[in-house]
Amino acid sequence: MRQSQLFSKTRREAPKDEVAKNAELLIRGGYIHKEMAGVYSFLPLGLIVLNKIIQIIREEMNEIGGEEILLASLQQKDTWQTTDRWDDKKVDNWFKTKLKNDTELGLGFTHEEPLTALMREHIRSYKDLPRYAYQFQTKFRNETRAKSGIMRSREFIMKDLYSFSKSQKEHDEFYEKAKESYITIFQRIGIGEKTYVTFASGGSFSKFSHEFQTITDAGEDIIYISDEKKIALNKEVMNDEGLAAVGVKKEDLREAKAVEVGNIFSLGTRFSEAIGLTYVALDGSKKPVIMGSYGIGPARLMGTVVELFSDDAGIVWPKSIAPFDIHLIEVPCDESTNKAATKLYENLKKAGVSVLYDDRDARAGEKFSDSDLIGIPTRIVISKKTIEEGMLEVKSRAKGHVTKMTESQLVASIKKAQ
Ligand code: ATP
Ligand code: MG
Repeated sequence: MRQSQLFSKTRREAPKDEVAKNAELLIRGGYIHKEMAGVYSFLPLGLIVLNKIIQIIREEMNEIGGEEILLASLQQKDTWQTTDRWDDKKVDNWFKTKLKNDTELGLGFTHEEPLTALMREHIRSYKDLPRYAYQFQTKFRNETRAKSGIMRSREFIMKDLYSFSKSQKEHDEFYEKAKESYITIFQRIGIGEKTYVTFASGGSFSKFSHEFQTITDAGEDIIYISDEKKIALNKEVMNDEGLAAVGVKKEDLREAKAVEVGNIFSLGTRFSEAIGLTYVALDGSKKPVIMGSYGIGPARLMGTVVELFSDDAGIVWPKSIAPFDIHLIEVPCDESTNKAATKLYENLKKAGVSVLYDDRDARAGEKFSDSDLIGIPTRIVISKKTIEEGMLEVKSRAKGHVTKMTESQLVASIKKAQ
């Protein structure tokens, strides 16, 4: 992509009312636009990153047998009344609206109810089970505090998978698989080292649920970490009973601020019994389906990555989710640099390397500070000097060092990292 073609511009300042580092940097870098408190839009660069995160999650969900769907946002009252989750006293973050004839509707904040109702038409016998359906879908939540940038917004895409199983054993096996799959996702996105499988309260159907908590000062949660076991407990289960069940001692745990990037939950038969999702078992008896739900917030992940990987000059994207492999910069913008840079740009594209090419007629200083802010892992500068030398100057955004190499060495090194 040629930077001169990008409508989004970098900015020196984020909006005055923006207090979160992730949103500040993403707005300044031209990744997102703040519509209002807790509501953000994604610009071309931001959408590339978001889609890369989504694609990693999609690949891992498909790997464990997920089937992708897309449910509606508009929700009917009746379905949610069957499970007693319509009333604002029971669920305090609903956004609700009305048809012209005054019929009340809700904007989905999660999707257990409609999917359970939908599955009644597709799950009849044990032969139809297990099933795993997931989506990337916009959730609406009337969050009271929305001060964490894109880590907590009032409208956000969630990956939510729901499992439908015929026995507790079948459910438990999938639950473990999903847990492993989540660990892989966070590793691929580059936050594996700082992310802990965290024991949380399990509701009435299992002892625990599991949160995936990433350590950052920008987090709103407190967790208690066992470094030895590489697990953590959240506040809900940080009591004598919880400690004993997990098999850790209070004095061996350290406290840390963290953000919940994912959550997996055994639902038992709570929804299937209320909504009437049953199947006919091998012995001819009718049984309620056993369910689980598995959530991840791709934009919360993106915000978390920015919180973890940034410096005074801007963002430092991990390679797996960076908007481009290379930021190619020509200085000054004249005939010779333009010719050399254009040739390199075309060659790299052909070799399957993605490039943001700064072909703008701007000062070198401005190009470099924009490049630091945008945070693409590798920067290549084409100048009179590099043309004369016949070598490329390749700078790592993360490490700051410059290496000289040929075009084919560069392609090989990028390919190796892809
Ligand atoms: P929190 O306790 O942080 O409010 P939650 O427990 O309400 O989160 P879940 O209902 O478990 O969240 O949602 C599944 C996932 O969706 C979360 O793990 C998180 O990654 C993401 N998520 C939840 N709320 C938001 C939000 N307001 N903005 C962005 N992502 C969110
Ligand atoms: Mg949660």
